Amino acid sequence: MSSAPHTLEGVSGSSETLHDLSLARGTLNRDGLRRRDPDLLPFLLKDPLTRVVELVGGRAQVVESGHDCALLLRSPRERDSHRLAVFLGQDSQGTAYVGVVGAADGEQDDQDAAGKAAWRTLREVGVLLSDRDAGLFVTVLGLANWHASHTHCPMCGATTEPDQAGWIRRCTRDGSEHYPRTDPAVIMAVTDPADRLLLARSPHWPLGRLSVLAGFVEPGESLEAAVAREVFEEVGLVVGQVRYLGNQPWPFPSSLMVGFTARAVDVALHLDEEEIVQAVWVSREDLREMVLAGTFVLSPSVSIARRMIERWYGGPIDQNAGITA
Ligand SMILES: [Zn+2]
Repeated sequence: MSSAPHTLEGVSGSSETLHDLSLARGTLNRDGLRRRDPDLLPFLLKDPLTRVVELVGGRAQVVESGHDCALLLRSPRERDSHRLAVFLGQDSQGTAYVGVVGAADGEQDDQDAAGKAAWRTLREVGVLLSDRDAGLFVTVLGLANWHASHTHCPMCGATTEPDQAGWIRRCTRDGSEHYPRTDPAVIMAVTDPADRLLLARSPHWPLGRLSVLAGFVEPGESLEAAVAREVFEEVGLVVGQVRYLGNQPWPFPSSLMVGFTARAVDVALHLDEEEIVQAVWVSREDLREMVLAGTFVLSPSVSIARRMIERWYGGPIDQNAGITA
């Protein structure tokens, strides 16, 4: 279920971009200049008005009540000063937000006063959270993933340590600074001259799960060139009319997904079976029948892939109840 509005009109051949993507809704002022203050985190972690979001094993605590779902935000605790902490920004009232990353060592037993919070992944709650909370979760998860995989200097191999309120790591031997990584990936809704959509299955996916093609951008390559190269490598199609659709962070662990439409010149498919084990052209009627028959596992609502498929289809698709539009 998504609270985000869907584009229902003018879908086919539309130049409209995708708005309100689930993971691209953050509202905080990141206030990057404040990160330079070495006393910022110690100061904020002593201020009871600071709101702390805690991340443990990729999960954050959320409070769910009916259709409402919100991050559990709390005041700082003494132990937060001994953990990885990141300054996430401030809201329009001047309230500061800090992410604290805990070790997955049983601290998940920690409960809020009412005992109603549950530890959830971003994939589970990304579409349910408010704009502010979705942005908080995406940012703290992306930073935590980066810190976890950049504990050593790529130049000399010595350990690195966090600096600048959690936004860089610095080598303890040579002092070099290392910045959070974001890896751009393109994802593309490829259609044929009859406006059928290309869906494909990666060898790592269960039978029935199909989605649009995607791949990482290579050094020296534009986004549009990456779209054309990936489509040709994976299914042997030449595409043109590559048009930008929208983008959202995808911190699993560190991607930025950039969506495009592209039109195939021909329809013959030649699969690279190391990357793609199945690829099919589907009409809207085909897709409808596959969903109703329960033979098609859609990408999750939180993904840009899902929104791209629904945009092409012309409205939301309810995986459980069939097609609603
Ligand atoms: Zn070094």
